[in-house]
Amino acid sequence: VFFWSSLAHPARRYRGCGATSMIYDHIPALAAPVTSLRGMGPKRAALLEKLGVETVGDLLLHFPRRHEDHRVRTAIADLAEGVDVTLEGTVTEMDVRPSRRQPVTTAVIEDASGSVGAVWFGRRGLARQLPPGVAAVFAGRVGRYRDELVLQNPDFALSGNGAEAEFSGLRPVYPTVDGLSQRQLRGFIAAAFETLDGTPCQGLTPADLEARHGWPPAGEALRAIHWPDAPEAAEHARARFAYEEFLALQAAVLWGRAGRRSGAGVAHNTQGPLLEALRISLPFTLTPGQQRAVDAILADMAAPAPMMRLLQGDVGSGKTAVALHAIAAALDSGRQAALMAPTEALADQHALTIKKTLETLGARVALLTGSAPGGAAVRRAVADGQVNVIVGTQALIQDTVDFESLGLVIVDEQHRFGVAQRARLGAKGPAPDLLHMTATPIPRSLTLTLYGGMDLTVIPDLPPGRLPVKTARAPAHKEEDLHRYIVEQAQAGKQTYYVCPLIEESDVRDLGAVTERYESLTRGPLRSVPAALLHGRMASAVKEETLRAFREGRISVLFSTSVVEVGIDAPGAAIMVIEDAASFGLSQLHQLRGRVGRSDRQAYCFLLGTPATEEGKERLDALCRHHSGFDIAEADLRLRGPGEFAGVRQTGLTGFRAADLVRDAELLETARHDAREILARDPRLREAAHARLGEAAERLAAFNP
Ligand code: ADP
Ligand code: MG
Repeated sequence: VFFWSSLAHPARRYRGCGATSMIYDHIPALAAPVTSLRGMGPKRAALLEKLGVETVGDLLLHFPRRHEDHRVRTAIADLAEGVDVTLEGTVTEMDVRPSRRQPVTTAVIEDASGSVGAVWFGRRGLARQLPPGVAAVFAGRVGRYRDELVLQNPDFALSGNGAEAEFSGLRPVYPTVDGLSQRQLRGFIAAAFETLDGTPCQGLTPADLEARHGWPPAGEALRAIHWPDAPEAAEHARARFAYEEFLALQAAVLWGRAGRRSGAGVAHNTQGPLLEALRISLPFTLTPGQQRAVDAILADMAAPAPMMRLLQGDVGSGKTAVALHAIAAALDSGRQAALMAPTEALADQHALTIKKTLETLGARVALLTGSAPGGAAVRRAVADGQVNVIVGTQALIQDTVDFESLGLVIVDEQHRFGVAQRARLGAKGPAPDLLHMTATPIPRSLTLTLYGGMDLTVIPDLPPGRLPVKTARAPAHKEEDLHRYIVEQAQAGKQTYYVCPLIEESDVRDLGAVTERYESLTRGPLRSVPAALLHGRMASAVKEETLRAFREGRISVLFSTSVVEVGIDAPGAAIMVIEDAASFGLSQLHQLRGRVGRSDRQAYCFLLGTPATEEGKERLDALCRHHSGFDIAEADLRLRGPGEFAGVRQTGLTGFRAADLVRDAELLETARHDAREILARDPRLREAAHARLGEAAERLAAFNP
């Protein structure tokens, strides 16, 4: 599956370990380099390598992007504008208007039903190849030129000269690179098929599942994906391989998970006094989604198998409150809990929240970040059990941090951390329970692939009374109105975040934009309101104090970089202004906007700046239109493709050959269901029918979290 293809990807050396390649790996001849094919020199081999094709077998798995339909010959009298056609006729006129830049060649083609013009731009030598009187097959799109129907830039082959073979049936169109023509690729792939020499390919899908879904056998599907009899056959073959890629991946993640969960973990007490006290003292009632999440987490924690749960909830859905319950249960069991956050500001905020709610109930909470004071003393207190809850940044995973009895690890905004960082914290106790929280909703199809090894809980609702943040683009000439509005609102007790992008030039992050804006606005239109500046380069103590002042309402306008993007919770803020909004990604914009609308007051988000690209404009429109993080994630997936999602590149998921995470979400669900079923019956994939799937899963498991 994961052929980490044409990208010069560091994981390239893993190429060929995937599932699809296993379809032929029992046929040794296919492991030969492409240069073993006739007519293939080093130059073409180098071009093929750019496509991720190195062996003869790789050619079989170089799947077409689409097919051209040459099944019928259209009579010239039946041509219609905008249609792709194949027709056979005789050239009656040929004319070249020479031009150094782009010669225009026109011809007239005639068949029994009538005649039509053809036009080529920039192609030389056509007059020689198609002199009047010659018969040929032409294929191309019918367009209009000077008010007449014409064939535009048609492809052609002389009749009786292989034209029948070239323009027949459904012709594959492959992803290619400059210098490698479709004709050449088709030839090489056909030659690769000859190498099979009748040896049947074998898929990974067990026969009973193949029958249940009506999938064609692997060998048949492999041929049909290149040379189908009908478009439906090509799509069905593609779906078969997509399913198989998903099946192998899901088997891998579920298998890996089974391995990790087999270790004995902690059976936490979920009926203890701290948890009970927390329930009573919480100032609000949990939403149904929060309650379901708490129930699922406590059930996991009570069981001896280690918890591995991903909690997904949109910004503002109240994940922290859920985490507090898990922490209370750990403490009730005499264990320590660790909470890791991606930024110091967020760690500091969490430490405050936890202190506020749990310290009065007897818990001892400490903060450990790179710059928080007393690090050594905190580490000692953690090691000898003086501290029950430790909150921190990556500093938590340093080797110098030891726990007395770690029972629970929570990773907030987990997509911000690498796989290795998350794993290291998990390794600091004997199989502690793991809870990962994320507010960057990724589409379910991606969740199942990236985090398929975890149990998933989604908080689908927001606390009651929350209104969607009204979002609009603000044109430059309205900025004065905007400033006036910010001042008025500040006087009414509503705070504003004013976010400016960092301008990144090579390595230097320029804070100019935000500092400059802060200075000019606080001296000018915003001079009457208390404002402050916040950015990543400020000393931690200053940052913390600034955020605290903002949270407590002592500051009305906070100018900042996107450091406020993750997790910051200041419920009094009701206005978000984002300068040069198009320079942020869609999910980042959603996170930023999520800083407001955290109470029952109507909040507003203003997007400034004019997007330089169409895609940028679509991003801003999507943000104005959609409010649920999940809808936004889907929109983002469509706009940017799966490769841009956090974590995807590392796992090489962009290397699917047949599967498409956007289109094939349903197939993925099916494959996951099937993989579960297989593993329930045959947990180690030992049965003969699962042997090939087991091999693929084992190889894939090595590259997945
Ligand atoms: P996120 O899921 O983005 O991390 P937070 O945990 O920061 O969200 O919670 C957002 C805000 O909502 C906080 O101010 C929190 O106190 C509040 N909150 C959480 N749960 C509820 C609830 N059930 N009812 C009312 N307010 C809530
Ligand atoms: Mg949060």
